Amino acid sequence: MNRQEVLTILDQYGLSAKKSLGQNFLCNDNVIGGILDLANLDKTMTCLEIGPGLGALSEKAVILCGRYVAVEIDTRFQERLTDAVENKGGCVLYKDYLALAAEDLPDPSFAPDVILSNLPYYVMTPIMLKVMRDFPSCGKMVFMVEEEALDRIFANPGTKQYGPLSVVTALFGNKRKCFNVDAASFCPAPNTISSVIEITAEPGRVFDPSWIGFVESAFALRRKTLVNSLSSSGKYSKESILSALGTLGIKETVRSEELQPSDFVRMYEIMHDRKEEN
Ligand code: SAM
Repeated sequence: MNRQEVLTILDQYGLSAKKSLGQNFLCNDNVIGGILDLANLDKTMTCLEIGPGLGALSEKAVILCGRYVAVEIDTRFQERLTDAVENKGGCVLYKDYLALAAEDLPDPSFAPDVILSNLPYYVMTPIMLKVMRDFPSCGKMVFMVEEEALDRIFANPGTKQYGPLSVVTALFGNKRKCFNVDAASFCPAPNTISSVIEITAEPGRVFDPSWIGFVESAFALRRKTLVNSLSSSGKYSKESILSALGTLGIKETVRSEELQPSDFVRMYEIMHDRKEEN
């Protein structure tokens, strides 16, 4: 889909981009092709897309995979997406993905192999965390993010940018920055450069969605120690946190940004067992 095609579709369906919903539509076929190459869809696969918009990725993805489902907040796109996606066998759910519950999914066992999203930047972090929470067995995620978010996604322990997004994505799989996308590849053009990243889960790796809430609680009070931050969630006593730190040989005054992603899992596992014993 190029710029002229985007403009024609907007005109044909009487649509316009809503800035408040992060609507910057892809209008560069090389970028669209690059994202679909990374997704590497085939007919055995189920693909989920968050925010199909005018269908730049969807109209191709729906043909490449066995089952295609999208979640779009903006019901104005219904007529266009019926033509581009649903008439080709795909399914579009008109919902705010952040409010999507398990019962909204097409069936209880729905489990995408690949998740695609040219993310609406105003809700980038919550959507990324929710897809990892909702679909822990997903093998690959390909996301368009704003370039400045890369610092948070790829941050290492001990840095200011290190936080839940860095930790949870590292636990989910191997993450890689694939390529940059200039503002002219979108219509309308955003104020920032964008980047495509992929997160690939090793077959057989374990990812427990409960880790996400634990990591978020650990970073809730960034200026405080891990003990104070975690205990402020009301879910864990200071004694149980101190005891877990002691078991792991980690100092009591540690702050969350000093821990490796694997340390959070080790702590969670120790504290979860202890909670079950109580
Ligand atoms: N995928 C299209 C493309 O690449 O041209 C559109 C991408 S546009 C950056 C983001 C899309 O996400 C828009 O279609 C927007 O309406 C949708 N969106 C925004 N917030 C959403 C939410 N909370 N849940 C689902 N979709 C959302």
